[in-house]
Amino acid sequence: MRYPADLLKLIALFKKLPGVGSKTAERFAFELLGWEETQIHMFAEQVSTVKKKIQFCPECGCMGEIDLACTFCNKRDTSCLCIISSAKDAFAIEDTHIYKGLYHVIDGLLSPIDGKTAEKIGVEKLKKRIADLQIKEIVIALDSTLEGDTTSLYLKDQLTASHISISRLALGLPLGSSLDFIDGGTLSRALMGRQSF
Ligand SMILES: [Zn+2]
Repeated sequence: MRYPADLLKLIALFKKLPGVGSKTAERFAFELLGWEETQIHMFAEQVSTVKKKIQFCPECGCMGEIDLACTFCNKRDTSCLCIISSAKDAFAIEDTHIYKGLYHVIDGLLSPIDGKTAEKIGVEKLKKRIADLQIKEIVIALDSTLEGDTTSLYLKDQLTASHISISRLALGLPLGSSLDFIDGGTLSRALMGRQSF
């Protein structure tokens, strides 16, 4: 016996979320059916407007409130640049209170099989920014995965210059992990113990 078509559509949408399988998607859908009309409306309203209320800084790629100056650019040590692959990672690094420089979000990690080449992840834009800002120190803070390692090595090769020191998060980062899943303490240690690269 199949669920009604519209319920199936909702379940299919929930299944698009990471880590959500059929059973969880069904639970979410049935849970929603039990909500008050006003709650459902608020939920739908937030889902449909959240993207319009958030902006990505054209300079660094970090996330912020729409129409407000970028809080990640508007600060501090402008000689140091931390390279990350997701705007979300900047928040985790900020929470460690260790890093005081600027950020640069590249557009994903190198993965030629998926068509993610150097042009696609914005390496030229990154190089230009490093030159324009006269960056002295670069911290590469990418995932500890095969793609993360490949991208880190590629960037090191591309960005090496006599006046720039390049380091990479190392200590304590479990192999195969994305920064997303690292707890604050481990990330703090990884930042403090960053190694010349
Ligand atoms: Zn910015």
